[in-house]
Amino acid sequence: MTALLFSCKSTQPTANKASDKTVEITFLHVNDVYEISPLEGGKVGGMARVATLRKELLQKNPNTLTVLAGDFLNPALISTFKYEGKSIKGRQMVEAMNAVGFDWVGLGNHEFDLDEADLQKRIDESKFNWLASNALQNKKGVLEPFSKTVDGVKVPFPKTAILSFKNAQGKSVKMGMFSIVLPSNKKDFVYYGDFFESAKNTYDILKNECDFVVGITHINKADDAKLAEMLPDVKLLMGGHDHDNMIETVKGVVIAKADANAKTAYVHTISYNTETKTATIKSDLRKINDSIPQDSAVATVVKKWDDIMDVAIVKAGMDKNDVVAEVTEPLDGRESSMRNGHTNLGDLIAQSMTAAASKPVDCSVFNSGSVRIDDQISGKITQLDIMRILPFGGKIVEVAMKGRLLERILETGLKNKGNGGFLQWDKITHDDAKNEWFINGKLLDVNQDYYVSIPKFMMEGKETNFGYLTYQNPDVIKVTESDEKDINDIRNDVRKVLIAYMKKM
Ligand SMILES: [Zn+2]
Repeated sequence: MTALLFSCKSTQPTANKASDKTVEITFLHVNDVYEISPLEGGKVGGMARVATLRKELLQKNPNTLTVLAGDFLNPALISTFKYEGKSIKGRQMVEAMNAVGFDWVGLGNHEFDLDEADLQKRIDESKFNWLASNALQNKKGVLEPFSKTVDGVKVPFPKTAILSFKNAQGKSVKMGMFSIVLPSNKKDFVYYGDFFESAKNTYDILKNECDFVVGITHINKADDAKLAEMLPDVKLLMGGHDHDNMIETVKGVVIAKADANAKTAYVHTISYNTETKTATIKSDLRKINDSIPQDSAVATVVKKWDDIMDVAIVKAGMDKNDVVAEVTEPLDGRESSMRNGHTNLGDLIAQSMTAAASKPVDCSVFNSGSVRIDDQISGKITQLDIMRILPFGGKIVEVAMKGRLLERILETGLKNKGNGGFLQWDKITHDDAKNEWFINGKLLDVNQDYYVSIPKFMMEGKETNFGYLTYQNPDVIKVTESDEKDINDIRNDVRKVLIAYMKKM
């Protein structure tokens, strides 16, 4: 167990409205932020607006901490491009977060999407503090805390943090913090300790040393509620992983999450009465929109990365501001939805593949992992949004194959439930009870031949558990490829396939 003492900042007498026995601590809490730029035509979100809100809060109360409750290094469209010869992989986010002045972060499952070396680079670039109560680095079986190298010295992530705060009259309070992350899309270089157990163990240590304890949690909200039942003396759980704002009180524990991509932020004010030794919490959900001016220093950082991205977008032959369609019902590209079931966005992409084929196909399939937006989007959908949905692009091909291979592909897709190899499809249904497949309404016949639209990436055996699926597979009869030299052949890029289809909607 590592405890860290955070230096206290004294409150300016004029700014402190609380009584002399009360110490106020303010949290600015966001979670699941993938984009540093504002979204929806610049109207919502954006790190430069978060920075303005932070400055405002700090002016009112110097005891203000800015917290990100996990999921920020991935996914983002810009992460797939290169800068200075290296893949960007979350560098834009760390730079923006440093400029905002984040104080503390908890790990989210998406931080581990980066490979170990890239994650280490991002950690070392960060100026904020990382807290990790249950996740450890697994170095070929040797477990040790993740660490940040500061001036050549490896500083391990603490499991707990103890922070002291004072009010203007010198009354002080000690707050304990823990942070947990769920094991989702597990990686070999990470050891995921049981998060309930870790929270309990760290809480048991903190409760003796602190006046009160709060948690940063990156788990499903049902588990937040269970945790609150387990640890009713924790004051506040600042959550992430869920992408829609929520607040509830379970056994007196306030559980709150803001909307993904800093569309909103929670401002929690904890007032600790040093005489009665009790804390009260006030939580306000703040909209991050164009009513908040952009902080110029952060906006400069964001613009730098936007410019880098713009060059890459033009290079990819896309027109980022072109409106493709206006949708009223949100398109669900959330990872948890797409890797475990079928969504309207999955259907739409598969239908666009069917429509783009050079001759009628029996069905279309693609891997859910090609969708990386991990968000729901609605309103005016631009080409930039399509790129955020499908950052890797890639060709789609048409394959004549034996029915037994198609059946194997579909079975593998089911086995891949929970990961990126889970399949989305068009013109396919599955009877779960009987385990029967229907192609275009008819029972799949293993002895019949089928004509299927599928990403080239999958045909190269690159998706999880699809190693057998190659051009050389004996059950592949013929592969029809797009014409690479023809810029009008949309099958060269699945994003163009989707754009063409949505424009006709
Ligand atoms: Zn998450």
